[in-house]
Amino acid sequence: MSGGAMAAGGIGLGGLLIIGVISLLMGRNPVEVLQQVGGMSGTEIVSQSGRTPTAEEQELAEFTLQILASTEDVWTKVFKQYGREYVAPQLVLYNDYVQTASGTASAQMGPFYNSADQKVYIDLSFFSTMKQEIGADGDFAYAYVIAHEIGHHVQYLLGILQQAHQQMARMSQTDSNHMSVRIELQADFLAGVWAHYENKMFSSLEDGDLEEGITLAAKIGDDYLQKKARGYATPDTFNHGTSQQRERWLLKGFRSGDINQGDTFSVNYNQL
Ligand SMILES: [Zn+2]
Repeated sequence: MSGGAMAAGGIGLGGLLIIGVISLLMGRNPVEVLQQVGGMSGTEIVSQSGRTPTAEEQELAEFTLQILASTEDVWTKVFKQYGREYVAPQLVLYNDYVQTASGTASAQMGPFYNSADQKVYIDLSFFSTMKQEIGADGDFAYAYVIAHEIGHHVQYLLGILQQAHQQMARMSQTDSNHMSVRIELQADFLAGVWAHYENKMFSSLEDGDLEEGITLAAKIGDDYLQKKARGYATPDTFNHGTSQQRERWLLKGFRSGDINQGDTFSVNYNQL
């Protein structure tokens, strides 16, 4: 990742988000600041525990906002190609724990998308947890995880998530897990499509970035996060597919940049 390249992105939302970050840095209540700005929506920074975020958590907040702005740019553009309007999800950055439309979530859950309120929840301890887990910084790996959650929102906007969840409600546990794998691999694919356009628009990826990111992402993606996660709209234990499958679909999205190639639902399960 070339320095700062990921920062390129939507001014509208990005500008709003920066307000949150700055106030976070100044130790003020960002939610109050956002309210003062006047009725703008998009991001909440929630500290229900009242704990001041650490420097690392502030770093993650800033980075997350940059990625979010970039996903908004990319998906607005892609949706437009199909005559559709992209509506960005709400982002909730929190520390320790947070209330969602589906109950209380704790930082142990890792980042997740909740289709019940169309919000992406990212705990601010995520950065340091990942650093500990993978023993290295990995900008692209972080970006990938965020883009994966946004991928779930894209699935929601296209009605895919709702359909899949409806079917899962009538399925055996095994079939439901298989469906979950299809959902997750498609979110990986969509993260790849995002990276494709991000790179095309801003040349932000350098040689090896993607491979590096994929290696890291395989270690720290939902495989890891889901062990602790119970915060998705569907409360089942998820099966996210093997690292190999996840790499394959992420790469497919990245190389093609074509959402038509991301149908993980018609492929034979054994050939995913
Ligand atoms: Zn997921």
